[in-house]
Amino acid sequence: MLSLVLATLVAAPQTPPEPARSPHPKLDGAEKFIRERASGAEIRKHLRRLSEDPHVAGSQADYESALYVKSTLESFGFETEIETYHAYLPYPEEIGLRITAPNEIELDLREHPNPRDKDSYDDVIATYNAYSASGVVEAPVVYAFKGRAEDFDWLEEKGVNVRGKICLIRYGGVFRGLKVREAAEHGAAGVLLYSDPDDDGYRKGDVHPDGPWRPEHAVQRGSILYLSEMCGDPLTPGWASTKEAERLAPAECSWLPTIPCIPISSANAGKILAAMKGPNVSGAWQGGCPVTYHTGPGPVRVEMTVRCDNEIRPLWNVLGRLRAPSTSKRYVLIGGHRDAWVHGANDPTSGQALALEAMRILGRLVADGWEPHYEIRFASWDAEEFGLVGSTEWCEDHADAIQRECLAYFNCDGAVSGTRFGASSTPDLVRFLGEVAARTTPHDNQGRLLTRWAHGGSRPPVGELGSGSDYTAFVCRLGIPALDFGSRGGHGVYHSLHDTLFTMETYLDPGFAIHESMARFLATAAYRFAKSSRPPLDESAWAPWLESAIAKLNSLDDDLREKLLGQVAALREACKDEADEEQLIGLHRALLDEQGIQSRPWFRNLLVAPGIDLGYGAATLPDLDEALESGDEARIEAAAKKLSGVLDAMAFVLRSE
Ligand SMILES: [Zn+2]
Repeated sequence: MLSLVLATLVAAPQTPPEPARSPHPKLDGAEKFIRERASGAEIRKHLRRLSEDPHVAGSQADYESALYVKSTLESFGFETEIETYHAYLPYPEEIGLRITAPNEIELDLREHPNPRDKDSYDDVIATYNAYSASGVVEAPVVYAFKGRAEDFDWLEEKGVNVRGKICLIRYGGVFRGLKVREAAEHGAAGVLLYSDPDDDGYRKGDVHPDGPWRPEHAVQRGSILYLSEMCGDPLTPGWASTKEAERLAPAECSWLPTIPCIPISSANAGKILAAMKGPNVSGAWQGGCPVTYHTGPGPVRVEMTVRCDNEIRPLWNVLGRLRAPSTSKRYVLIGGHRDAWVHGANDPTSGQALALEAMRILGRLVADGWEPHYEIRFASWDAEEFGLVGSTEWCEDHADAIQRECLAYFNCDGAVSGTRFGASSTPDLVRFLGEVAARTTPHDNQGRLLTRWAHGGSRPPVGELGSGSDYTAFVCRLGIPALDFGSRGGHGVYHSLHDTLFTMETYLDPGFAIHESMARFLATAAYRFAKSSRPPLDESAWAPWLESAIAKLNSLDDDLREKLLGQVAALREACKDEADEEQLIGLHRALLDEQGIQSRPWFRNLLVAPGIDLGYGAATLPDLDEALESGDEARIEAAAKKLSGVLDAMAFVLRSE
């Protein structure tokens, strides 16, 4: 999905309390072993194998990649199994676009291969947006900038009516599905999504194959499920999509798009923009295509054709367990998705490859006699690209067991695209993240990751988890602590034909030193968590986090604010004595409300969720925040009552013996 750098930095970063530790803590034997053993060559081997063939969820190549991960984990000493679900994963049958006025031009939607990259000549899935409505629409085009609410408000002020029109919208800013929702809510008949060179092309730097940026014929595929309303298989909201599962009909799902949508290249967008008239645009609305942008409508008209099948397809999650005889049945779970839109060298395979290397090293430590206190589990998820499907179905299928036994979830998605390290987590893992970063050497082996991440200081800017990858069901549905991490840099190959090994080893991480560093980070995190006698979670982080979340609710009336802050003070009091394992497990459920967020009940965590209009960016206290936004007194009262219940439950769990 969208690069996590953008998503996680929307909300103000969390900073850990001033650490009482040295910036260069002494590593124990196992941590030294991890530092010495992470191998770029091993990681490249996995990346080569897993990104060699395009492997969309539900395809034969995807199944074969699952078998590869399974046998690889077994060779590291893991017990493994493949769990199969059956989800609504539509593939494209016909995607077409032609300009019908002023002149008839059939537009070529295919991406252009790179003569220096054999993978780019493979047969790949068409450029489409999963869950687009099927249909043929012919209409004038309106340019709607990034397709956010404020962009449609601006068009309205300009007297530009999008009803019955096809909206041309730039990627970026918010999750792509919510752009289509906004356009449909304004009466648009169809949407064309494109990567503007200002955001993701030659204006950023050399384009492929001479550089990592998006060339003019490249396209960003991607799901347009309304991700801030629910996750997982759209036809089984809240229950697991097993073979026999009951399924809704697509027409019953308000989180599925109702209009056709096609992703196109900047070259094709430029042809359409060149034939548009109407009001001029200014400032950021003017993009990098070599024409003066106008809003339309028209005079250019286009005809879109979208025909997708409505197939229910199998998907395969690979699960692995690493343990010693004495190990507790409670576990830390490391995971990331395996499925890709095309080859997926960066997204997701950089994450899969480095995570497998971390699992190899941990397997060696256990083989050499280390007995982890907590079990280490690994999950290679499927169908994340369609809507976090594999991880969400697993969480819905095993909810009770996960809440009883899973202590934390570490997500590793498209984790390597440059040297800028970043991480996000629930508040109770912020301190742990700092500790692990203080023990990890960066790709150039100079100093420690923490110093670089914290810009020379010791308090790194840890992001807030909203949505965008497989941690969502753990945090937002089950209340499980989670973190996500990666080392990023600028590139334009996301969800395109050019996200290949060629790009990875030519531009993003030649020599795989960044992958090695991230494998060290992940192995150190899993090792430190699993060896600890008590889960290294910091429940005392919740009180200050809640105080700053409440402070952001500007329109909260004083009495209610005072009441909530009083409950937070009681929670802070309850954290005086360090919580034990049981209390920490009890917190998972205490964070949740059975009714969930009023506007989107799939989300049961009332403290954090993706913003309803952001999709990726996090919103804190979302239920109360949305109720205040609505101004509806009854809704505000209900939301305040639910939140108050959660705060009481958290304090009760932490006070209880
Ligand atoms: Zn991904």
